[in-house]
Amino acid sequence: MAVFSSNLGYPRIGERREWKKTLESFWNGAISETELYDTMKRLRLRHVQKQMKKGIDLIPVGDFSLYDHMLDMAFMFGYIPSRFQHMSRGSLETYFAMARGAKHQSALEMTKWFNTNYHYIVPELENTTPILVENRLLHLYEEAKQELNIDTKPVMLGPITFLLLSKKYDHNDFKTHLSSLIPIYIQVLKELYEAGVSWVQIDEPILVQDIDETIIRFFHDVYDAFHAALPSLHIILQTYYESISHYKEIVSLPVAGIGLDFVHDEGINVSHMRKWGFPDDKVLAAGIIDGRNVWKSSLEAKANFIDHLAHYIDVDRLIIQPSCSLLHVPVTVQHEQSLPPLLKEALAFADEKLDEVYELTQYVKGDRTIDDFRHYDRHYQSFVMSSSRNVQSVQEALANIETYPTKRIDYSKRKHDHKKRWNLPVLPTTTIGSFPQTKEIRQARLKWKKGEWTEEHYQSFIRKEIKNWIHIQEKLDIDVLVHGEFERTDMVEFFGEKLTGIACTTNGWVQSYGSRCVRPPIIFGDVAFNKPMTVDETAYAQTLTHKPVKGMLTGPVTILNWSFVRNDIDRFHVLRQLALAIREEVLALEKNGIGMIQVDEPALREGLPLKRSKRTRYLEAAVEAFRLATCSVQPETQIHTHMCYSQFEDIIEAIDALDADVISIESSRSHGELVHSFEIYRYEREIGLGVYDIHSPRIPTIEEVGENIERALQVLDHHQFWVNPDCGLKTRNAEEAIAALKVMVEAAKIYRQKL
Ligand code: GLN
Ligand code: ZN
Repeated sequence: MAVFSSNLGYPRIGERREWKKTLESFWNGAISETELYDTMKRLRLRHVQKQMKKGIDLIPVGDFSLYDHMLDMAFMFGYIPSRFQHMSRGSLETYFAMARGAKHQSALEMTKWFNTNYHYIVPELENTTPILVENRLLHLYEEAKQELNIDTKPVMLGPITFLLLSKKYDHNDFKTHLSSLIPIYIQVLKELYEAGVSWVQIDEPILVQDIDETIIRFFHDVYDAFHAALPSLHIILQTYYESISHYKEIVSLPVAGIGLDFVHDEGINVSHMRKWGFPDDKVLAAGIIDGRNVWKSSLEAKANFIDHLAHYIDVDRLIIQPSCSLLHVPVTVQHEQSLPPLLKEALAFADEKLDEVYELTQYVKGDRTIDDFRHYDRHYQSFVMSSSRNVQSVQEALANIETYPTKRIDYSKRKHDHKKRWNLPVLPTTTIGSFPQTKEIRQARLKWKKGEWTEEHYQSFIRKEIKNWIHIQEKLDIDVLVHGEFERTDMVEFFGEKLTGIACTTNGWVQSYGSRCVRPPIIFGDVAFNKPMTVDETAYAQTLTHKPVKGMLTGPVTILNWSFVRNDIDRFHVLRQLALAIREEVLALEKNGIGMIQVDEPALREGLPLKRSKRTRYLEAAVEAFRLATCSVQPETQIHTHMCYSQFEDIIEAIDALDADVISIESSRSHGELVHSFEIYRYEREIGLGVYDIHSPRIPTIEEVGENIERALQVLDHHQFWVNPDCGLKTRNAEEAIAALKVMVEAAKIYRQKL
């Protein structure tokens, strides 16, 4: 055996988001299907070639997708839900209809991919018998072989993870589904083998979750069958994002290699190796470069780690690779022009990470020594030591964390102050914060950023929008108003740009779902409040109306979960720093006369660790952060919060512990269940279960909104219930937003009459 360098997956989006632009041009009819295929092929081959030039031996194919890798698998096996079956099976039209919906067919559901911020399409199995529609991997392998003369490594999701992440089938039938899928996988693998493939990577990330013995037994069935059919094909069974729980059984499966994450396993994977050894007939695909974060590695530390691994495995059976697919990091640091140089030098995106993989592979081969890494490591080290990471005032605040209030006077007492202060009608109406971000607004921001508009010009433009929408809200007769968030690009980036210790990139895009990309801020140093961030706009809005204007902030947990976070200190310390910074903003709003302050935590649940044993600690830290941010206000100030994107049934206790006076939750798509869980829990605070879905341009009817109100009133006291949409309205146009809100207010008034 020889040592290999390897990669698990490369970002799809392209250095300049060419991928996204191509897809969107196709969707809006600007380019043809052939043009789409041609551009995508060029992009795909460019990625393969780039990885080859970087010295990667095992280059993945199959990681590239026109939308999502789960959808690709479903499509390859012919799992087409019945509502799409009148469409032609292998067509692009069907593929995109499943992803995005068609005129009369709703799209497949989309959900969070493990503990990342990537969202995948959830296959619907129904009672489909799978078939091999097209051996996509074979096609991609041959493409790279013919065009570039490279022997690539086909990558696909394993059958057990695929089935466990799919829905619309009876889980008692898991075994039946698995049995019909195994021969199809074997057919795919066989064709690959016959075409000359030597290495295949089969991803089974489900192995890092809490799975039971039955599932492990299925692993035996599957991989025994693969081995029996293809004894000479080198299959790497790949895991990532955490340590694996059934180490002993998994490493004994009849595969050529096992892929483990040595970055996010908290040392557990190595401790398993120490305890049980590693079989000497297998290679270890060692994920040692962090595939989920943006920091350079200390190559010295990584080389030491490899030396440590060498206690348990001969180094010539090592494959050096990132901890997971590089899908979760931006493409390259090269195009970043506006980052502080010291910070830029400390960053490694996908391309730079592959360089690290190469260097460490050379180390294993004996072609590099630790001394060779000193120069490289110096940049990162000097950044770790830099003053931005050691801000004395922040350190002191953290050392005295217990002096900051995390408890308000009892809810039952302050609730009366709130009733008196505002005297709102029952079933008060409000919105979640943002109003339509029109093209005009986005262009104004761009002009201001480019310096074409002066600060004053931009500010007066924003004020005009605020004024207009305060007027609209008054006319609609909404009870609690908002300023509309016109000045914000993104709810996290906006605060990232303003807080000390956080940087925003210009090109650091990562795919969130489909063609949607986000640019997570980078929390690089000690986070501190600099100056008020939202007071001007909010206080201005309040001068325009006698109704209360609710201040609008992004909470510490959400900022943490949607950013790249420094890795030299505990994540929860960063969270506390964020909490104290947001606390300052809460107090600044309060000081300027804002009596209702909403601290949004849509990503609270998103940060839940994969392993159940770690959840309590996370939830405690999250609750503490929210309370640090909000509990210093006066009793008469009303704290709101908002959550969306997920189920809440299993975290109601934590939601309650936030001690927010009012919470608004996205719920129109699962209204009944959500209401039910609040009924069981006997939630006592005020709550607005979203009464209509803002994701759709469709205007709800009074009856629909009314039904949602009625259902809620069956279990919640009418003094508890607020009437609001599911989420912010920034993705809607003005006409839609106004029409829907009108219906909402009318419905609320009808129900007030009935009480
Ligand atoms: N206040 C934000 C808005 O209305 C909340 C967004 C969110 O929950 N994702 O846009
Ligand atoms: Zn929301």
